[in-house]
Amino acid sequence: MFYSESLPMGKIKKLLLFFIVLATGVGFFGFRNQFRSWRQQNFSQKKNNFFASNIEKKKYVIVGASAAGIAAAEQLRWFDRGADVTCVSYEKERPYNKCNLEDYLAGEKTLRHITILNERRQQWKNIDLILGDHARVVSINPKKKSIKLASGEALEYGVFTYQTLSDVSNIKDYLYKQRPQKVAVVGAGFSGLECADALLSFDVATTVIDRNGRVMHRRCDEKGSQILQAHMKKKGVAFLKNESVKEVFYKDGKITKILLSSGKHLDVDMLILSIGFKQNVELARGAGLEIHKLGGIKVDASMRTSNKHIFAGGDCVVVKDIVTGEDVRSVKWRDAKEQGKVAAHGMVGKNKEYKGAFRANLSRFFGTSIVTMGPVNNPPAGMEVITKNGENSHRKYLIKNDQIKGFLVVGSRDRSLVGYLRKVSMSGQKVDRDRLI
Ligand SMILES: Cc1cc2nc3c(=O)[nH]c(=O)nc-3n(C[C@H](O)[C@H](O)[C@H](O)COP(=O)(O)OP(=O)(O)OC[C@H]3O[C@@H](n4cnc5c(N)ncnc54)[C@H](O)[C@@H]3O)c2cc1C
Repeated sequence: MFYSESLPMGKIKKLLLFFIVLATGVGFFGFRNQFRSWRQQNFSQKKNNFFASNIEKKKYVIVGASAAGIAAAEQLRWFDRGADVTCVSYEKERPYNKCNLEDYLAGEKTLRHITILNERRQQWKNIDLILGDHARVVSINPKKKSIKLASGEALEYGVFTYQTLSDVSNIKDYLYKQRPQKVAVVGAGFSGLECADALLSFDVATTVIDRNGRVMHRRCDEKGSQILQAHMKKKGVAFLKNESVKEVFYKDGKITKILLSSGKHLDVDMLILSIGFKQNVELARGAGLEIHKLGGIKVDASMRTSNKHIFAGGDCVVVKDIVTGEDVRSVKWRDAKEQGKVAAHGMVGKNKEYKGAFRANLSRFFGTSIVTMGPVNNPPAGMEVITKNGENSHRKYLIKNDQIKGFLVVGSRDRSLVGYLRKVSMSGQKVDRDRLI
């Protein structure tokens, strides 16, 4: 079976005989109850080819079918051609790249462009997919190596979250069919601003609302935020700072206005929430796994959780920052993929060390761009800070012991500069100050 909208529980339990991997984004784990060395595994893999019917197949179930989940599945397939590899996800769509949701909303990319596992690749990799609400895993029983599924729930009419392909498809649908005129986007972080930028493709008046005094207050400094806000304004997107939504009003089931924390009302006929998300650790907690004080699942360098039979990776874990060495929440596509691969290595007994997350963010919106990494907003004492300002650009570099510990580049499209910063900060190489233009 390659693709299934509904799979009986009996089948799922059977799939759990050997391993479960959980990649819920907001996480992923893996169970194992049988350990064989790589050599032994290769041997039995070869044997599998000749005596397929006599050899018991390894079975892996991955909960989550996104960056970490699909990377783990493909890596497992690479290790073991004969195993059953299944990804379970409560999203109903084929696995897709979340980083491209903005382009999908703006109509610049189609589903085909953002899909990361199309039917052909799925068949070639021989990965089973179980997708849809019914595939939401509500608990894991580590002792029995079983999972329990349930169905999902819907939101009020006209109110949307901006996180998944399904969210964006619903937003698009609403924009086309209901033709809203006034849209409020709550949250002025990366996703909120990307979403507001994509809305420029529609004939709507957009207001971004944030409880902080400026956009991107966490990942950008004051000067950078000012530049972004000026570009936003030029594009006709309003910004309401120091405000949050206290109440939502509906008429005939449709949203009509919102009450803000200042006591003002704002007429809106569509509300999009882009307010970040909590790490999805409830499954892990329920399975008795150790949770880091930062809120994610605790893993070691091979992505193994506190239960040696369970692995985790993706947005649900806490990992080391490759630049600072600090424990951080993992929130990047590339990191999630790498963690999935590292976990797959561990699961086949071929441990690989995860070097750490490189937490740089890059985005383009409102005709400008931003690349940010490290504590640019609040540089720790003892760090050398170099700033360079242009008319519409702002750059800031944080240096310690001749190494780049953070950078912020707003309004510059200099790819070679960004490439250089990436290289030296990841490797810890000595920085060449002449390159910091
Ligand atoms: C709008 C948006 C834009 C982004 N843009 C960028 C970007 O430009 N660059 C970048 O590096 N990163 C970006 N990110 C972050 C990046 O997408 C994530 O770091 C990455 O997707 C994490 O991958 P993951 O595998 O951990 O899980 P996710 O992508 O979060 O996927 C979680 C998976 O687990 C499944 N799942 C969760 N719980 C259960 C359950 N109980 N039962 C069954 N299935 C479950 C879900 O259905 C899904 O398949 C963006 C994120 C968002 C939301």
